[in-house]
Amino acid sequence: MPLNFNKVEFIRSAVRREDFLWDGLPQMAFAGRSNVGKSSVINRLVNRKNFARVGASPGKTSQINYFRLDGRAYLVDLPGYGYAKVSKAERDRWGRLMESYFASGLITLGIMIVDARHKPTADDVTMANWFFDTGCPVVVAANKLDKLKKSEIGPNMQAIRDTLALREEDRLVPFSAERGDGSEELMGLLRYSLEEHRT
Ligand code: GDP
Repeated sequence: MPLNFNKVEFIRSAVRREDFLWDGLPQMAFAGRSNVGKSSVINRLVNRKNFARVGASPGKTSQINYFRLDGRAYLVDLPGYGYAKVSKAERDRWGRLMESYFASGLITLGIMIVDARHKPTADDVTMANWFFDTGCPVVVAANKLDKLKKSEIGPNMQAIRDTLALREEDRLVPFSAERGDGSEELMGLLRYSLEEHRT
């Protein structure tokens, strides 16, 4: 049976290593700069309007939200980065939590959300390298594609590939959470990664 994206439930928010889930189900981790549309991408995938906000209240930028997908994998919503108005204490908390999650060995697939309109930031590059260091496959979704002219798509995708130093095997999916572009392709890659994980 293919992975059913409509069967999704919020499990918990993790703020420390002890809160991570260690039950062996694959963990597909979503990362991105604040406001890049990470929640919108997740909501698009699971076909809901306000799903990825569950458990996240304003100011709680340093928590990892776990959703279980079809009882077969976790969709892991990592806290966004690069938000200017965050205190140093909060940034430090973010760093400690992310470091321990990336060191946990739990990630089976990394999904990075970047903005299709812009060259990835230094923070995006750092995040991509964290994913590469885990050794897991990485998929990049270039969101807000609807804001681009047709002629801009090719050059922008190349700039994203070059700046993040994507390897040949890393997939880059032009995406629009608003319009739905790339959604089938991204779902296909998530399903595929699950099959690979099992074999
Ligand atoms: P997050 O902070 O990364 O979770 O970002 P959100 O999902 O909250 O989205 C941030 C803003 O970007 C919101 O105003 C969304 O409506 C908008 N947004 C998200 N995805 C898209 C998209 O594909 N196209 C456009 N035009 N706007 C988007």
